[in-house]
Amino acid sequence: MTDPAPAFDPESFRQAGHAFIDWIANYWSTVEKFPVRSQVAPGWVRSQLPASAPEQGEPMKAVLADVDRVITPALTHWQHPSFFAYFPASASAPAILGDLLSAGLGVQGMLWATSPACTELETLVLDWLVDLLGLPAQYRSESHGGFGGGVIQDTASSSVLCALIAAREQATGGTTNNDGLRTYAKQLTAYTSGDAHSSVEKAFRIAGLGDTALRRVAVDTNGCMNIAELEAALQRDIAAGCQPFFVCATVGSTACGAIDDVPAIAKMARAHKMWLHVDSAWAGAAATCPELRPAIVAGAEGADSWCFNPHKWMMINFDCNCLFLRDRRPLIQALSVLPEYLRNKATESGSVIDYRDWQIPLGRRFRALKVWMTLRHFGAAAIREHIRQHVKWAEEFEGLVKADARFELVGKRSLSLVCFRLKGGDEENERLLEQLNATGKAYLSHAKINGKFAMRMAIGGSMTTREHVLCAWKAIAHLAK
Ligand code: PLP
Repeated sequence: MTDPAPAFDPESFRQAGHAFIDWIANYWSTVEKFPVRSQVAPGWVRSQLPASAPEQGEPMKAVLADVDRVITPALTHWQHPSFFAYFPASASAPAILGDLLSAGLGVQGMLWATSPACTELETLVLDWLVDLLGLPAQYRSESHGGFGGGVIQDTASSSVLCALIAAREQATGGTTNNDGLRTYAKQLTAYTSGDAHSSVEKAFRIAGLGDTALRRVAVDTNGCMNIAELEAALQRDIAAGCQPFFVCATVGSTACGAIDDVPAIAKMARAHKMWLHVDSAWAGAAATCPELRPAIVAGAEGADSWCFNPHKWMMINFDCNCLFLRDRRPLIQALSVLPEYLRNKATESGSVIDYRDWQIPLGRRFRALKVWMTLRHFGAAAIREHIRQHVKWAEEFEGLVKADARFELVGKRSLSLVCFRLKGGDEENERLLEQLNATGKAYLSHAKINGKFAMRMAIGGSMTTREHVLCAWKAIAHLAK
């Protein structure tokens, strides 16, 4: 008889768990000693670790020692308060504890019956978020005759893919799931701005619709979809016998935070029977602040689906995207497959939500816990204050750029995102950004805006303070000398 595999008994877990929680707390309190962007060369991590898995187990202590030795030096520290690149992915203690609880419970909430709490808490917190963001009540679960409602996805990429598949099925009268597009008589066409996130294009590839079905509508100098161009593209396609079926508007573009004219796009969507999806992955969280809300939720009542990422700016650690649907039925009709082994009384009663039908995978984590715990622990007031501070510091940063004759702003500040550049060539700007990031003191990323290289200062970290913002500017101004 061989020994049983080593069990991770509750007592060992308690001890190791305390050590890991201590490790994370220490990491947060000392993260500033690390360069924000990892400095290791490609292949370094692999070179430090054995080529094959160990035959005999090791104590967790030994593993944690290797986290210090190999993993931490090779991290880009997303929770560093001087992380200003991309859009920060903010985390917080209650969210992380919620995720830990989710892992500890280990439930898989594909059906209501496989864990009623997983489903019902999710429906509740998404209804809370509709109200907190001031979104139209149509997105609440009880609206639209009980067919509205939200669902937590992993990312905004999954949300746009789900919306697209629902739109495709709706536009083709529910035939493409069976027959694919081969026998569908018309060419389906869709629209998004040239500055929309790459996930829209990826969704088209995954859904088998192809890049060419997606018209990338030109943007104006502010990075917003040019409405006249959208109208022209629609008219061209209709005249050519195509069937427009989907339009994706962006509220807070990745490059410069541009906000499309959603009310105008919604009007066209209605006129041409297109599904309107709004991607507010980053900016959406700012709708919690009533004074910032109007620009963000404008036109939301005319959309079929609307999404944002609490994992970007709401102190809820990655991954967490909320997708709200005016009418969930087209999505469920598009994605529902019910094999015998999933049949159960609750589903057949028609009185419960089974979130398996609202997403690409079957299985699902209990993500609602981290949303619930964050909202309960901080309260809405603290979340609003957190966002307001970032916007205020971005305004201050914008003022510093304006006051320095060597620099220029690129477009308008959007919430807590400031795009700027040296008055010079792209190469000079690229060099400055690389020098800054190589210092490890701050980390910014870039975008091409109106064809020019621009640095992006995206404020959103949970531990960022005004001083970190000012220090980043000091470092930039110093290197520009
Ligand atoms: N949409 C916008 C506007 C984004 O800025 C991003 C990422 O930064 C995404 C979508 C993709 O987000 P995710 O990683 O959640 O798919």
